[in-house]
Amino acid sequence: MDDAGTEFARANVLIDGPRIAGIGPDLEFPDATGEVHDIRGRDHLVMPGLINGHFHSPVNLMKGSLDSLPLEMFMLYESPSLGDLMAGRREAYVRTMLGAIEMLKTGVTALQDDAFFVPVPTPDAIDGVMQAYGDSGIRATVALDQTDVVEYAKFPFLENLLPEALRRQMDNDPLLGREALLELYGYLIERWNGQAQGRLGVAVSCSAPQRVTVEYFRALDDLSRRHDLPFYMHILETKLQRVLGDEKYGQSLVKYVDDLGLLHDRSTVIHAIWVDESDIEILAQRRVTVAHNPVCNLRLGSGVMPFRKLRNRNVPVCLGSDEAIADDTINMWASAKMAGLIHNITEPDYHNWPRAEEVLGCLIRGGARAMRRADRIGILAPGYEADLIMLDLQTLAFTPLNDLKRQLVYCENGSSVRLTMVAGEIVVRDGRVLTVDENAIRAEARDIAGHQAAVIQKVRRNADLLAPYYRDMYLRAARRDVGINRWVGDAWRPG
Ligand SMILES: [Zn+2]
Repeated sequence: MDDAGTEFARANVLIDGPRIAGIGPDLEFPDATGEVHDIRGRDHLVMPGLINGHFHSPVNLMKGSLDSLPLEMFMLYESPSLGDLMAGRREAYVRTMLGAIEMLKTGVTALQDDAFFVPVPTPDAIDGVMQAYGDSGIRATVALDQTDVVEYAKFPFLENLLPEALRRQMDNDPLLGREALLELYGYLIERWNGQAQGRLGVAVSCSAPQRVTVEYFRALDDLSRRHDLPFYMHILETKLQRVLGDEKYGQSLVKYVDDLGLLHDRSTVIHAIWVDESDIEILAQRRVTVAHNPVCNLRLGSGVMPFRKLRNRNVPVCLGSDEAIADDTINMWASAKMAGLIHNITEPDYHNWPRAEEVLGCLIRGGARAMRRADRIGILAPGYEADLIMLDLQTLAFTPLNDLKRQLVYCENGSSVRLTMVAGEIVVRDGRVLTVDENAIRAEARDIAGHQAAVIQKVRRNADLLAPYYRDMYLRAARRDVGINRWVGDAWRPG
């Protein structure tokens, strides 16, 4: 995966502690002192581990729990349930571990977790998440995705559509102010940044620009700059957000954030679907990374990100699964395949369609760049972290072997992964996670979900009361002509 696209038909990979010490054909093993492990790789591919560039762990127990809905309706049913289910340390640990296991077994060695805590994070829940990543053996960068504005202010039209009583109910929703949130960030950074031999990292998150006050937004940016942390922001995921920009800020949300001076090379801009040409120009100039989540985007009907337009302007792209309730597997092979397919129906000129090599570049080196770890992961080379996977090339996905890269993108689903190594430690071998008792974690996850079922039902009945007003808002935005279209088909047409 290096710039030259170096591949060896046969090679030795020498690993010393957490790093790669040498790689190449007929490489001599030096006289080693201490313990030496010899891993045979005949008929296997060794490649860098996959990177999940965008993910939210807190809904790991909710896969398959909602039918497809647009984001704004979806969140209405998802988030309040979490409030009534506020996780303590152990629940946060178990649900995070469940996701880490799924990722490690399918060859993901690193991820960015934009973890939201509804209604508010606590040091206990933060510890549960971080401890799980630490124990699992995966590499993880985690942010606190919190909002500090009232619910109806995040949307166009809603404040006026809601009856007085429901609006007042939202005014009373618990919110942590800027100071309290920054204190929690202080805790997260102090306690966890750089832990587990550097596998654990911290990022900052505004969730989305319309979900935070300018003061908090700026304070997060300040944290990001002082500690060199990635900055996560969901921007223009939906058409409704494009309309919100016009209604509330009189400009696109990309322009709004750029005018605040908060787009830069530490930013991971998540989704970037309803961006127009001048937004793309800004994203390119500010050298942000865009996180592309094609399966989630289809599940929520958000639209198709203008992949080629962004790539033509050299905007770096990473791939993500997004949350386990909106891409109900955490399988990066599925995200990669979808990224390799969906853009083909957006334009007839096949020269502009993504190629397998380009998709793999987004999946691995794009993710490393987003994590601000491009000098340490994403490539197998001396000095880089030994974050690698070994795939069995005798499985159906690679039989017969016609083209390695195309078969990685279009055939493989994670089931050929035989070994996952992170920072020189073997964490998965022959389908078994070595760092944790997977069966016990699964049993506990089932148990927790069982206890939560009744609460979720009750909370969703409350969401039913709000749903008609959200639907009105959604349709009003959907019908507006915003000058661009990111939906496929002609039913979207305004009017
Ligand atoms: Zn997201």
